[in-house]
Parts: sequence; structure tokens; C-alpha cells
Amino acid sequence: MDVEERLEQVLIEWEGQRFYALRDRDTGLLVCPICRVAKFVSPEDLVGHLVAHAKRQLDRRRPPPQRPHQTSSSEES
Ligand SMILES: [Zn+2]
Repeated sequence: MDVEERLEQVLIEWEGQRFYALRDRDTGLLVCPICRVAKFVSPEDLVGHLVAHAKRQLDRRRPPPQRPHQTSSSEES
């Protein structure tokens, strides 16, 4: 069976927040809607995983640390 057909979109309510997630029809486990790889038993675990995704994206948006590039110039004034 196609993976897309096995996953159904479900509305999760957790701590007053609502968000969509995916659920595996066969196992009943929640599936991460972002990477579609990680599976979770409880909404709490899924939320923690989504937060980790968000943080990773934020990290990616940050410019890479710039090290002062020191040119080994032999020129002296
Ligand atoms: Zn994920």
C-alpha cells in the first residue's frame, strides 16, 4: 500500500494548542508531518519532536559563524 494512503491527517490537541499531524492507519502511531519518519505514541512526544524541528530550522537560518580571516600577509608598512 502506498505510504500516503496509510497516513491520515489528524488534528491534535495538546496543552490548548491545536495542530495537524499524521497518523499511521496500521499502527495508530502519530507520524511527524515534517520528516514523516519519526513515529510517536503520545502527542507530547510529537510536540517535542516538532519543536526540535523548529529549532533546527532556526539554526539553519542563522548565518554561519564568521571567523576573522587573517591573511598571512607578509607585507609590512
Ligand atoms: Zn520529524
